[in-house]
Parts: sequence; C-alpha cells; structure tokens
Amino acid sequence: MRCSFCPFLSSAVFNCDLHCHSTCSDGLLPAAEVARRAAANGVDMLALTDHDDVDGLAAAREVADAVGMAFVNGVEISIEWERLQIHVLGLAFDVADAPLNAGLAAIRSGRIERARRMSAELALVGVGGAFEGAMRYAANPNLISRAHFGRYLVEAGVCKDLRSVFEAYLVPGRPGYVDHRWATLGDSVRWILDAGGIAAVAHPGRYKLTRSEMRRFLGEFKDLGGQAIEVMSGSHTPEHVAVYGRLAKEYGFLASRGSDFHGPGESYVDLGQLAPLPDGLTPVWEAF
Ligand code: AMP
Ligand code: MN
Ligand code: MN
Ligand code: MN
Repeated sequence: MRCSFCPFLSSAVFNCDLHCHSTCSDGLLPAAEVARRAAANGVDMLALTDHDDVDGLAAAREVADAVGMAFVNGVEISIEWERLQIHVLGLAFDVADAPLNAGLAAIRSGRIERARRMSAELALVGVGGAFEGAMRYAANPNLISRAHFGRYLVEAGVCKDLRSVFEAYLVPGRPGYVDHRWATLGDSVRWILDAGGIAAVAHPGRYKLTRSEMRRFLGEFKDLGGQAIEVMSGSHTPEHVAVYGRLAKEYGFLASRGSDFHGPGESYVDLGQLAPLPDGLTPVWEAF
C-alpha cells in the first residue's frame, strides 16, 4: 500500500509512532526531548499522547517542525468501562477545542485526591510518605499517576522494579490501588470526535476482559463513533498483534502503531522501534 504522505514510500516503511509520554504526564523526558529523540530514531510521524493532558503538544510540535518530522496532536484519555480502567487515544484533533479541554481538566482534578487515598492505603500496609515521594517524581503535579508511585516505591526499596511494584501494590485487589471515577467511554469519544479527531483504543491487549467482553466493548466503541485500535503496541505480544489485527479487520477499524514510550531505561520499546503494522490493515495515519 502507498503511503499518503510520501508517494514513494510504502506504508510499511513509513515510521509512525502515535503513542508516547512526556513529563507533562508520567514520561521521563520533556516534550521537546521526546520529539528530538523520535526524530533521531527515524520516526517520520509522531503523536505525543500524554495522559489526560495536552500541554506538551506545542513544544513537541515546534521541534518536529524544525527537524521536518510530521506531528499530530495526541492525548491518552483515562476512562472507566464497567469498573475497568481503559485508555482511549485521541489523534489529530483541534488542541484549542473547549469541551475537550474542559473534559481533560475534569479528569485531572480527581487525580490528586486519588493519590492521597492511595497514599493512605499504602500507609496502612507500612509504606509511609508515598504521596510526598510520588509527588517528587511528578513534574506536573496535576498529573500524578501510578507510574510516579511506582518509581517512588522502587526508590524506597519496597520492590526491586516497577513491574513487581505494580503486581504487588498498584493493581486492583492490591493495597495501593483505589477505585476512581474517570471519564466514560461515551464522553471520551465525543470529546475527540467533536474536536475533529480520531478515537483509537490504546493497547487493547492489556485489559482484563474476556473475549466476549472485549467484543462488547469494541462494539460499543464503534457505535459511539470510535474509528481505530492500536494493533502494534509496546505492550502487545505477537499473539495480541494477531488477535487485534483480525479484530480491526472484522470491525472495520483503522490500525494504529505506538511504542507507549515513557522513558529510556524504563520502556522496553524505544520511540519508532516497533515492527511495522501487519499487511492487510488500513493504517490510521491515512485518515489524518
Ligand atoms: P494511572 O493513570 O495513574 O492509573 O497510571 C497508569 C500508568 O501506570 C500507565 O500509564 C503506566 O505508565 C503505568 N503502569 C501501569 N501498569 C504498569 C505496569 N504493570 N508496569 C509499569 N508501569 C505500569
Ligand atoms: Mn503512563
Ligand atoms: Mn495506557
Ligand atoms: Mn500510554
């Protein structure tokens, strides 16, 4: 298939990375550095997709423009669907859209209070000072996330690495996890669509949904106007790629590709280093 941005390149070698994080949420590098690193890694088109925040987009776009890398606006919205936390990506939307910005601000405002509750729960199992400790890692305190708690718990010697911290403390059923009211699926898709963007399900392979629940979720997402799912993701196994490639075709979803890079030394997959999308799928970037 030909790529719509460069007629001489097949889409298989057009290197799009449409999912990554900066210090505006829980990434380790400032937005401008994320864009610089992407360009150095050979990314042709980048979307910065911070959690519930669009503040890094201007700085990333400025670098992208200067080095001649295509850039699209992105955001990763935290939603709750049947008590599960799910992430919906917004891509190529108008960053000045007022309802989208108001919706994101509402999600952010709940995060500090949630962090205090997480800290109180952790204190009950003998882990003290977690709120202050996690806050030291949060360059943007409004975007305090479990990733910041994880980094502090590793620093405090509670667990040896992030992976074991999440398993032991920060996932449902564990002492540092508290339920939280995020946006609804309908809100997130509506905000993105009304801002002229494309809504994509982030890393569908990560959710603890049965096969029939996943089908119900994807059906609802499509009925609401959702257009895409991530097929290539830094958190997908080869089996996930096969399963979600098939589901993308079956549901008529565009396919996205994103590393979900959070920082050097922390993420398994660096910017732009995922395998290309499998053949036979329609890349989401053809719709931008
Ligand atoms: P939150 O939005 O505060 O619920 O935090 C979710 C973030 O925690 C994700 O975006 C990841 O950055 C991080 N995270 C979630 N699960 C894991 C895991 N198993 N290992 C490492 N980081 C994780
Ligand atoms: Mn994150
Ligand atoms: Mn995510
Ligand atoms: Mn992410």
